[in-house]
Amino acid sequence: MSRQIGDRAVVLGASMAGLLAARVLADAYTQVTVIDRDELPEASTHRRGVPHGRHLHALLARGQQALEELFPGLTAELVVEGMPAGDLLADARLYFSGHRLRQARTELVLLCVSRPVLEGHVRGRVRALPNVTFFDRCDVVGLATTPDRRRVTGARVLRRDDGSAEELLAADLVIDATGRGSRTPVWLDALGYTPPKQDQVRIGLGYATRTYRLRRDALGGDLLLLHGATPQRPRGGIRDAEPLDDPVPFRFPASVRHRYERLDRFPDGLLVMGDAVCSFNPIYGQGMSVAAVEALTLRRHLERATEPRPRRFFRDIARVVDMPWAIAVGGDLVFPGVQGRRTPKVRLVNAYLARLLAAAAHDASLASAFVRVTGLVARPESLLRPGVALRVLRASLHPAADTRGDLEHRDAARSAMVDLFPVPEHLGPVSAGAGVHNRHAVDHGGPASDSSIRSIHCARHAGAATRSGGPAA
Ligand SMILES: Cc1cc2nc3c(=O)[nH]c(=O)nc-3n(C[C@H](O)[C@H](O)[C@H](O)COP(=O)(O)OP(=O)(O)OC[C@H]3O[C@@H](n4cnc5c(N)ncnc54)[C@H](O)[C@@H]3O)c2cc1C
Repeated sequence: MSRQIGDRAVVLGASMAGLLAARVLADAYTQVTVIDRDELPEASTHRRGVPHGRHLHALLARGQQALEELFPGLTAELVVEGMPAGDLLADARLYFSGHRLRQARTELVLLCVSRPVLEGHVRGRVRALPNVTFFDRCDVVGLATTPDRRRVTGARVLRRDDGSAEELLAADLVIDATGRGSRTPVWLDALGYTPPKQDQVRIGLGYATRTYRLRRDALGGDLLLLHGATPQRPRGGIRDAEPLDDPVPFRFPASVRHRYERLDRFPDGLLVMGDAVCSFNPIYGQGMSVAAVEALTLRRHLERATEPRPRRFFRDIARVVDMPWAIAVGGDLVFPGVQGRRTPKVRLVNAYLARLLAAAAHDASLASAFVRVTGLVARPESLLRPGVALRVLRASLHPAADTRGDLEHRDAARSAMVDLFPVPEHLGPVSAGAGVHNRHAVDHGGPASDSSIRSIHCARHAGAATRSGGPAA
């Protein structure tokens, strides 16, 4: 628990990054106010300010762990509500680089939950904090500062009511979590500060999500099928499925990283988090998990019992962003249509990964090592350890013919999952094992009674489709 640092913190944006920031600020400020332009629903429904919420959102293993640290029991709560959960590798059919990874138990949680449902639950938890207040239907139009502009003293807001006038919300600390469209660079410029430089990787991604009714046994007992496309095998698909709605498109021209950590001058009393700092190519499913780890970083700064210093904070969250950014950019450069420098190191790493993934079709320990890295629980360098490299080399010298990577002892792995997220007593007599096997959700806003409805989405990536997949049972 952090010690009290100030009277009021104001969070701009009530999406994942803003809610998670509010969670940790509530331990350190007497009052936390969260502002959003949308009307924030009580239920877990789509909203305009988060158009990407209509698309399938993967929660990476590290994100699940970080959310659990911030909201103990959240995973069990979602499982009890019917979200399918299991083991990240034992219960998923993962295709990367054209190979199906061998299924094996990892002790990492695969939680299939739609974005509105996850955000709705997190919002519910934050709403329940006695010192957090939401101002919804309220646009943030700018910042207020001291006359010398060295300190931000609040946010200027305009309520979405007829005839309303601009108001000032005074704050000891303002956090910008307004996402990819954040105005902080523009506001900094207007205040006489240099805005951060941007790193951009132009990927020209076109994204579409559609909900289908699958054959009941389409995926056997598995929860997820993920087809990570390659330039040679750009598409994966489903057969015999009935579309239930129209495809929802989304264009994502570039991954963008604002280098706040490189600025020499920055006003006190202001921090930036989430997609406002870095918005990643969505096919890697990293954004929410990174926002959750950033919130834990903010908590560590608040535990020092002094106001977080922007430059130190930006330096620390740059470290959080480095790894997922490197994974995403490295992965994107496999596609010839993506612009960017393919250094010898990038070429070497990608060639090695292609061999590792071929070997991982048979070798559970390699498959497991790979999903730990993409799940952000292990560093990419772990894939270069001598023991791992030796297995890759051995498999490259003696390639096996069959690449299906089936799990031999699936049921044993499954039942072992029960221990991974104990259900708190107050949630009633439901075992997590039952949650894994019998409860299902759909990716269009909530649990459904029909377990065969599944959301599938596809991405076209610089001229080639790159991902199709979705929770399924
Ligand atoms: C197509 C797509 C698919 C994705 N898939 C995944 C995935 O599989 N897994 C994953 O982890 N991440 C995924 N992401 C990324 C993920 O959605 C974000 O990283 C995550 O939502 C955190 O974003 P955020 O809270 O920083 O910003 P956002 O979610 O963009 O929220 C910004 C909030 O600020 C509010 N706001 C903005 N401007 C103002 C203003 N001026 N005044 C008041 N309110 C304002 C908005 O209403 C909104 O609520 C995906 C993104 C896209 C685009």
